[in-house]
Amino acid sequence: MNILDGKKVQNAIIEELKEKISSLSTPPKLAAVIVGDNPASIRYVNHKQKACSRVGIQSEVIQLEPNASQEEILSLIQRLGQDPGVDGILLQLPLPDHLDPHPLIDAIDPQKDVDGLHPDNMGKLLLGREDGFIPCTPKGIQKLLQFYKIDPTGKRVVIVGRSNIVGKPLAALLCQKKPLAGATVTLAHSQTENLKEVCQEADIIIAAMGQAHLIDESFVSPGAVVIDVGISEKNVDGKVCLFGDVNQTKIKKIAAWSSPVPGGVGPMTIASLLENTYLAYTKRHKGSA
Ligand code: NAP
Repeated sequence: MNILDGKKVQNAIIEELKEKISSLSTPPKLAAVIVGDNPASIRYVNHKQKACSRVGIQSEVIQLEPNASQEEILSLIQRLGQDPGVDGILLQLPLPDHLDPHPLIDAIDPQKDVDGLHPDNMGKLLLGREDGFIPCTPKGIQKLLQFYKIDPTGKRVVIVGRSNIVGKPLAALLCQKKPLAGATVTLAHSQTENLKEVCQEADIIIAAMGQAHLIDESFVSPGAVVIDVGISEKNVDGKVCLFGDVNQTKIKKIAAWSSPVPGGVGPMTIASLLENTYLAYTKRHKGSA
């Protein structure tokens, strides 16, 4: 089995972006809003911040109290939207239970929506338009396939997980009549009957459930490509360990390619955030960038 090395592809994207950004008159700026103190969210935002500094993107993290109100976050997002010094806005999800994410996402200026979650950008993605932002994880997965010359055109792709940040936009992306897409996409979820058999039909399986090691060799047909999006944290011997949705050891004799966790889709998600932030900057500074 060959490894889809997200870290390697991320490094290549970072080098490319670093060069482009070094020639700009001012650095792009990303504002990340995080509500509460969820350790995983804090860790993700730290990774994103570190990656920004590697390419020369300025980043500001605004951390609000866990009991921050909907109105407080709404006005912060509106203020960031109006701030001419901010190119990209990121609202780290999930939010605490008392908050409704939809009106907050709706309030993000679509031109600064570097996570691609605003309905305008989702709609553009579904319509196959090029003038929106593609959500970071789907965009990163497409780039990972592209780097390793795995063409999804005409292939049967089974995505397991229908979230708004991964499964649904990824299905919309890969089904387009375009290069690096053109797949026959099945979007599976917890109500899918005979998931194992559905996955066995796939040339490319993309697991995005958050169910540690659920996908083993019995789901995978010989020569398939398996992309692991899932991240589950488990305590092993007093240490927090990360598990993907795929049991890599069990599939390695049957799959042709697989992405590890960590080091696969995670770095690609971050690379796409950097690319989207650079894109937001160039769109806003058209003519001067
Ligand atoms: P989510 O909102 O947690 O949704 C999970 C999806 O998986 C749902 O559609 C759910 O079905 C489905 N599902 C759960 N258990 C299943 C099962 N046993 N069989 C079939 N389907 C099942 O998803 P998410 O936010 O997309 O996150 C998914 C995983 O990816 C998480 O582990 C998350 O941490 C990880 N993630 C990683 C990255 C990265 O950059 N590496 C980025 C985003 C997310 P229902 O809709 O029917 O409930």
